[in-house]
Amino acid sequence: MKESNLYFKHIYVEKDLKNSESALHIIEKIRPSFVIEINNYLEIFGRKKQSFLLQKKSPSLILAKKRSKFLYPNPIYCQDFGFERSFYSSIVLNCIFDCKYCFLQGMYSSANIVIFLNLEDFLDEILKECARGNFLLFLSYNTDLLAIENFTGIIHRIYDFLKDYRMPMVEIRTKSSNFSSISDLKPIENIILAWSLLPQELIYIFEDKTASLAARIDAINKAIESGWNVRLIFDPVIVLKENKEKIYEKFFDEIAKRISIERVKDIGVGNFRMNKNFMKKLISERPDLLRIDFENYLSFEKILKNIRETFVEKSIFIKYNFKNSYGEKDE
Ligand code: SF4
Repeated sequence: MKESNLYFKHIYVEKDLKNSESALHIIEKIRPSFVIEINNYLEIFGRKKQSFLLQKKSPSLILAKKRSKFLYPNPIYCQDFGFERSFYSSIVLNCIFDCKYCFLQGMYSSANIVIFLNLEDFLDEILKECARGNFLLFLSYNTDLLAIENFTGIIHRIYDFLKDYRMPMVEIRTKSSNFSSISDLKPIENIILAWSLLPQELIYIFEDKTASLAARIDAINKAIESGWNVRLIFDPVIVLKENKEKIYEKFFDEIAKRISIERVKDIGVGNFRMNKNFMKKLISERPDLLRIDFENYLSFEKILKNIRETFVEKSIFIKYNFKNSYGEKDE
């Protein structure tokens, strides 16, 4: 896939930011057909009666200032990787990828992508939180930051800040293969690059526009070779009704052959979880979701066993929501 993603026809920019260095940089990189001034991003992003899925076919980009906080406590249904305190950040809202199971579909009524440019406020907030002790920060939470690094430079800006501090521990999660966009950076201890992985057969069905498994593995190997802390994420583990866990046996064989497992930092695993009502709403638009065997704990267990056998002696952080797989009640 073409990860520079220069497909935005429209860029909306808040008028107070239109001459800022970061807005001009992004506009210059993307060269959209139209740049439209607005007062506040909510005029576009918060419009009533929008169709997320329709907009997803051709989203616009919105450059804005965040006027509320950037850091939020990590939801209970996410892993904490052993940290007592963990947060996620919302520097960018929405994603250039189109995973059929993506939680963002239920979170926002707009699929337009908002980039908040006042990163200095975000970094101030991080410093204040660091005063209370170390924490884990999921930097790429409502988006895929590595996939858009070519035109945002956000990871570079945050790296410049983090390299002078030992806290917080930052995870940058991705389904992209765009490691080249940060290959000029020297690894630092408090950044973990985390790749979400799924068997290729399932990527075809559920993860539109993301990098192929082979391309993700190549990127992982490059990151490991460059000395980065690399985390592998098998979340969601997707068990198909028709195929069960067989797909995963082949998948882990491939991973064991192609990745230097001993150089991987740790592993995150989770079952497929989605709010039941939201699921019902989505099925008509995303019928492939019906192919998932949501509550098959036995298959999940077998896949987990496979993970333990593949990643011997690695720390494995697991999140399994019993009963529901729809996010109603945590284990
Ligand atoms: S990569 Fe993550 S944020 Fe992006 S569409 Fe897929 S699930 Fe959603």
